[in-house]
Order: sequence, then C-alpha cells, then structure tokens
Amino acid sequence: MTIRAVVFDLDGTLVDSLPDIGGSMNQVLRSLGLPPHPLSAYREFVGEGVLRLVERALPPGFAAREQAVAAFREVYGARLTAESRVYPGIAELLAGLEARGVPCAVCSNKPHGMTERVVRALLGEASFVCVEGERPERPRKPDPAAALDVARALGVAPSEVAFVGDTKTDMQTAVAAGMQPVGVAWGFRDRAELEEHGAALVVEDPAELLAWAQAAGPGA
Ligand SMILES: [Mg+2]
Repeated sequence: MTIRAVVFDLDGTLVDSLPDIGGSMNQVLRSLGLPPHPLSAYREFVGEGVLRLVERALPPGFAAREQAVAAFREVYGARLTAESRVYPGIAELLAGLEARGVPCAVCSNKPHGMTERVVRALLGEASFVCVEGERPERPRKPDPAAALDVARALGVAPSEVAFVGDTKTDMQTAVAAGMQPVGVAWGFRDRAELEEHGAALVVEDPAELLAWAQAAGPGA
C-alpha cells in the first residue's frame, strides 16, 4: 500500500467546532422555546450535514423544521469560527505533509461556502489542493461522490489516498471510494465506532498520522 495524498474531514478532525455548532443550535432552540442540549450531545449530532444536525437536535415530529434549518444557517454562519479552534498538532502535520510532497485536501459535509470560510479563517496557511464541502447537487458523505471528485482534483488514484476522519460517516466514505480509511481518536466519536466501520488505522495524535503517512509514502 502506497499513500500519495491525504484527504481530511473538517469538523472533529482538523477543527474543534463543537462550541460554535452546538452554541448556534442551542440559540435556535431557545428562540423556538425549546430546551438546549449539553454541548457534548452535539458530538453525536454532527457529521452528516446541516439537515441531519438540526433534525437530531429538534424534538421528534417538530413541524417547523425548515424554519429551524434556515435559522441555524443564519446564526451559525454569523459566528462560524468565533470559538472554533484547530486541534493541537494539526498545523505541524499539514506542514510536514507538504514538506514531504504529499498533497492534501478537505472533504466535509458542511455546506460548501461555510467549509471554505472555516478553512480560510483557521487553516489559511495550509496549502490544500482542493476544499470541498456539501453541495446541493451532490450526495453527501458517506456517498463517495465528493471524495472521488477530490481524488480527481488531486490527480491521485483513490487506492493511494488516505481519507482521514472522526466519524463512521468518514470511514464509510473511504470504504465506498476505495480509499484507505484512517480514523482520528481526538474527534467527536470513539475508537470503537471508527474500527467498526472500516478504519484501517486509528491514530491517537497528528504526529502518529504524519509518521504513518511517511512510512506509507511512495519513497518508503
Ligand atoms: Mg467530522
């Protein structure tokens, strides 16, 4: 197995965005007269796009779902990176991959425009070949369409791409796209979920991922 490129999920993998996502949704819930969730609950709600996030946060059968989705987009879009932070060691990981000539990209279920804004605000120094968020005309992860679009932009065969993420959705995406599924243990879900859904490897910290990519690289 050779790894020539790395594709990263965004939320829970590169960026800890839970305070902004959960805080925004809780603000929407309060505005609708509904009780907020503890921030930790959002670890389970995040990962499959805005629609699923809002659905999971609302009480079952809530009628004005579309209104809540629109409100979430507005509130979250306004704060987006107010409290979000890049995980420790990510900057060094991305710089290390770049120094080794390994092209990197982002593939998220966050709406495309917001994905670009978060990357620009928090990871602007990293040179991603391609940044892809959720687009209305393309099925979201775990469908492999977006990941395969990214592989084409990278010019690397899917089998030589590591797809790195923090949820089962990312592992399922990697498997469906024929990429190497790599889980990260610092994100929103636990190691067991990642292993159960096909992770070939779960790394404890970004330095472990860099060492692995180096060992699996074309010159190794
Ligand atoms: Mg994620």
